Amino acid sequence: KCMWSSSGNIVRSSYPDIEISKLSLSNYLLENVKDYVDKPAVTCGASGRTYNYGEVQFMTDRLAKAFRAIRACNLRKNDTLGILLPNMPEFTPVVLGANKAGLKITFANPLYTPEEILRQFEVAKVKIMVTIPSLLPVSNFLKAKMEGYRGTICIGGKDDLDNNVFNFESLIKTDHIADLPTISPKDIAIIPFSSGTSGLPKGVLLTNENCVANLCQITSPPFNRYAHEECENKNVLSIPPFFHIYGFNGILNLTLRNGAHLISLPKFSPEDYIRSLVTYEPSVLFLVPSLMLFLASHPSVTKKMLEPVAEVLVGAAAATVQLQEKFRSKCVENIVIRQGYGMTEASPVTLLTPFKPDESKLGSTGQLLPNMEARIVSTEDGTVLGMNETGELQFRGPQVMKGYLNNEAATKDTLDEDGWLKTGDIGYYDSDYYFYIVDRCKELIKVKGNQVSPTELENIIAEIDGIADVAVVGIPDDLAGELPRAYVVLKHNSKLNKHDIISYIQQKCIKYKWLEGGVKIVKAIPRNHSGKILRNELRSLDQKGDK
Ligand code: AMP
Repeated sequence: KCMWSSSGNIVRSSYPDIEISKLSLSNYLLENVKDYVDKPAVTCGASGRTYNYGEVQFMTDRLAKAFRAIRACNLRKNDTLGILLPNMPEFTPVVLGANKAGLKITFANPLYTPEEILRQFEVAKVKIMVTIPSLLPVSNFLKAKMEGYRGTICIGGKDDLDNNVFNFESLIKTDHIADLPTISPKDIAIIPFSSGTSGLPKGVLLTNENCVANLCQITSPPFNRYAHEECENKNVLSIPPFFHIYGFNGILNLTLRNGAHLISLPKFSPEDYIRSLVTYEPSVLFLVPSLMLFLASHPSVTKKMLEPVAEVLVGAAAATVQLQEKFRSKCVENIVIRQGYGMTEASPVTLLTPFKPDESKLGSTGQLLPNMEARIVSTEDGTVLGMNETGELQFRGPQVMKGYLNNEAATKDTLDEDGWLKTGDIGYYDSDYYFYIVDRCKELIKVKGNQVSPTELENIIAEIDGIADVAVVGIPDDLAGELPRAYVVLKHNSKLNKHDIISYIQQKCIKYKWLEGGVKIVKAIPRNHSGKILRNELRSLDQKGDK
């Protein structure tokens, strides 16, 4: 039932409240597994390695006990596990096993530089990490730099007990004797990272209840067309990474809960993706706009390959009407294309297109999920606006985070006392309560659906000798959505050139954070009285730039 009383211009979901399960995330995901133990659960589209639901459950139980039984690591309830894995079938038992063992989970992109991983894992106080052999040098780096780091579980490769490296396969060969803790709905399940509306990436505290609530909401009848039995035989193809909340809760967990078969790829390559389309004939695709553009425009992706696809979900960034139309023209006539809008802080989905095809709503990111409220707040004077009026979107609901890890100030800035989550996105709703996102008022840059924090890049650029001031903003790009661009002020007599700055970022950061939007050398960075960068002024300075 509703926790808050609604009044004024507050919008309540058009759908009745649903009951939210109180199970832990792992118990909720495996609640019905006995009905389909022999069905395929997860398959790697590149290697063909596959596990059925029975095997996932077996590995989960074994690993949960192993986490508690590794004496050298002495793990307790609420210790934090770091996952440094590409999308691979073992991601599933690792997550479920850690949750059953009472561990909190944080994820990092395996392509991050060691420094980027260290920054995140230090904040999250990671004690143990699961990774693959090629990333063992990173675990050695973390061990040398982090006091509380205790050990590494490696999928594939060998035990190296002197260095507390444990092989995953041999760990789960043994049925360890260990007690598993009780998990309560309010216990933290995962700590993904997000820069929110401003500043550096922060740990987002999502409880078991937050994650489960969002799964209950997105599988409620208006948003979930398929009856349970039909789902079991459905092949789902996905690229979005499981270390991002869209891939984690919105795809991996959603698919498992429905007993469907998830085909994932460790990284995007046109050949592997096309081969998976042909081999598995998926009926559901999970996309981000850049992948939708690839499918719509790549000559090797034929109409025939897309014939089995009945449903597509696109999210994580704006998919324009033109893009959706271009994609639709390559698909079967009655294909259902749905958009989801969300953010890490909301586990992630808040708005989703319901299953009642309505062409006039193309361009909308859908309607409010059940058990939710929204309001549109004026960015000028903070008043709550009405229908068809544009302002900042704010949400309340059971999937909204508990707060940021060890960062009360950022939590207060983002979540108000009444539970409203400020999104930093600008939008409006129409008379049928369909929502539209039109702009962003937060600093965040989104490159192919990946978060780039301008503050993080500014801090790194400011380390370079010869830089007097710097500001980073996103510039629009057809393929990537946005690209980071740096505006820099050089110190007097500095010999730095644009290339020095570009290559410095290339050494320090993962590729999607590179300054592909170029570097501009300027005389001054526009700032307000308190020193805050006036990003809109910079954006409007020159949209073309010299890359
Ligand atoms: P993240 O926390 O990485 O999921 O990023 C959340 C942000 O991505 C949102 O606040 C939006 O700015 C953007 N975003 C997510 N989904 C959409 C969408 N369907 N349309 C437009 N922007 C989106």
